Amino acid sequence: MYQERYDVIVVGSGPGGFPAAVAAARRGMKVLVLERNPFLGGLLASGLPLLAFIDRSGRQVVKGFAEEFIIRLREVGGATEHIPVPIQNSITYVNMSWARIMINEMLREEHVDTMVYAELSEMLMEGDRVKGVKVFSRGESYTFYTETVIDGTGDASCAYKAGARCEKGENLQPPTLTFDVENIDIEKFCEYVRTHPETIKLPETFKGISQQAEDFGADKTFATMCFFDLIEQAREAGDFTLPRNMIDFTHQKNTDRGFFNVTRAINTDVSELEDYNRAEDICEHQIFEIMRFLRKYCPGFKNCTLGQMMPYLGARESRRIAGKKTLTSDILKELPVPDDSVALTGYNVDIHGQTSGIMTMIPIPHAIGIPYGCLIPEKIEGLIMSGRTISVDQTIFGMTRIMSACMAVGEAAGTAAAIACKKGILPSGIDVKELRRELIEQGAVVS
Ligand SMILES: Cc1cc2nc3c(=O)[nH]c(=O)nc-3n(C[C@H](O)[C@H](O)[C@H](O)COP(=O)(O)OP(=O)(O)OC[C@H]3O[C@@H](n4cnc5c(N)ncnc54)[C@H](O)[C@@H]3O)c2cc1C
Repeated sequence: MYQERYDVIVVGSGPGGFPAAVAAARRGMKVLVLERNPFLGGLLASGLPLLAFIDRSGRQVVKGFAEEFIIRLREVGGATEHIPVPIQNSITYVNMSWARIMINEMLREEHVDTMVYAELSEMLMEGDRVKGVKVFSRGESYTFYTETVIDGTGDASCAYKAGARCEKGENLQPPTLTFDVENIDIEKFCEYVRTHPETIKLPETFKGISQQAEDFGADKTFATMCFFDLIEQAREAGDFTLPRNMIDFTHQKNTDRGFFNVTRAINTDVSELEDYNRAEDICEHQIFEIMRFLRKYCPGFKNCTLGQMMPYLGARESRRIAGKKTLTSDILKELPVPDDSVALTGYNVDIHGQTSGIMTMIPIPHAIGIPYGCLIPEKIEGLIMSGRTISVDQTIFGMTRIMSACMAVGEAAGTAAAIACKKGILPSGIDVKELRRELIEQGAVVS
């Protein structure tokens, strides 16, 4: 039975929302999670692998709750180790069904109330102060009261509706529908890589990162960007019209499958209704062309079949808030981990071009710190941001948007909410040293 009032309400149950709910509940808070999808987990339950638990220096920079979640998944065969890879630093596969079940299980263990099919329709405000939320679910409107909302919507929808200043990059990274391809002859593909190294030669936009043929094999887990050569051929023949210059896929050892991150709906802004619908349509249509290309041009793919698609269109980028602190690209010179960091990200700057679809990757030698102020909107009180909507510029967003970092931020957001609630103070007023102490006790990495 739902309550009318909660200590903490988390909107969105993705890698930003779900860890925040668990962290707050473990500190004695009565927590409600509202999720517009018919299942919990957001993109964490979409089949995407988690990147960069390990940074480019080889250090594991995300631990704490995120690591606990992966360990729980591994126990049931639902996740791999953190596997070092040359482009994305490390990759951790999760099984989408197990992820979804485990998220539900961990929220249930902490007695968190959850409501799916529940889309935020309104923020209840008293001036600049959060007082509750309204959601719409299955034809009805529901109101819940709280002093603390955590925005894990990925689109900063709570912040936007509360009147917080939000930003969108000039050229938003394009959305994608990912999908599995099955029945691949991986040996044949790897043989092609060995005999045609140009197929994995990364262009200038990868700033010196390279792939080696010996990292590929049917008995190896690998993440590759390939077929630069064959796409050129197919484009000349009129068989490839997508805004991509490569095929981006990951392979789990000893399987005949690959997870494909190839579609791109460029020149769309998925925070706008019409663009969202147009993007879904474009990406589904692109899968036809990709499958035709793979079967006709790519060694090892002649008899391949289409497997499962992501459950819904994945939006890489939409709104972010303007926070009390903002990480901007000038930090790339020093790569600091400041004293008020509450999470780290160990990823590279990874930007998928909006107008061209071309990908740029700037390798970053080691992790940076995310200050608590990036989670707190400039003016609105009682609201904590989590996941990818924190206050960073568009370049740094290329580092903070990955799910390992979103989970670390989520743990910090939920812990901060509990500290504020217990003391009866605003999240903007908590002692960041105390927050960091609690995060360290939980095994999180903050320095
Ligand atoms: C195509 C694609 C590929 C990617 N590849 C990778 C990858 O390989 N590895 C990696 O680590 N990261 C990857 N990312 C980035 C990463 O998945 C996201 O940045 C990350 O999931 C953001 O987490 P989040 O919790 O902020 O948002 P999300 O994961 O999007 O979760 C937000 C949740 O909030 C819910 N929600 C939204 N609005 C409302 C509302 N109004 N009311 C109620 N609920 C709402 C959504 O339904 C969703 O469940 C990729 C992203 C995309 C789109």
